[in-house]
Amino acid sequence: MAIREIVKYPAPILKQKCKEVVKFDQKLAMLLDDMYETMVAADGVGLAAPQIGEAVRVAIVDMGEGQEVIEMVNPVVTAIGGSEVEVEGCLSFPGLYGEVERPFFVRIEAQERDGSLYELEAEDYEARAILHEIDHLNGVLFDSKIIRVVDPSEFEEVDEESIETEQKEGEHQ
Ligand SMILES: [Zn+2]
Repeated sequence: MAIREIVKYPAPILKQKCKEVVKFDQKLAMLLDDMYETMVAADGVGLAAPQIGEAVRVAIVDMGEGQEVIEMVNPVVTAIGGSEVEVEGCLSFPGLYGEVERPFFVRIEAQERDGSLYELEAEDYEARAILHEIDHLNGVLFDSKIIRVVDPSEFEEVDEESIETEQKEGEHQ
């Protein structure tokens, strides 16, 4: 495993539509392991392969709190529902935070690292993180969806209860 360099905007690879994974081999397993290590080192909650320079349809999300890491290979959104506006960030856009509207609920179909197919349903912040990462695989970046840029200092101006939430929501993906 290795910590990889995170590709920053405006690198062209971030705007590419990524390629389907067809080989479920050791190289894919290594990519997923590198992505996980890189995400943890950068204190993110999600990472997409193009963010470490690989234009393939692979992304991960880690909600923490003892939850298993979600590994998504060739993910496809099969259903969405509701909508919610929350603050997002992105490891490829250091220092940029903004309010983005996304579905509250999502259902996806994806493959595991061994190629087996699975279905997953998620809500709220987890759904947001999954959709943010799948956007990356289509070359869609969150800055194009920001409806209001949020200064990080705004996180500190709110009361104690909100700080926890706001900081969580401001985490990088
Ligand atoms: Zn991102």
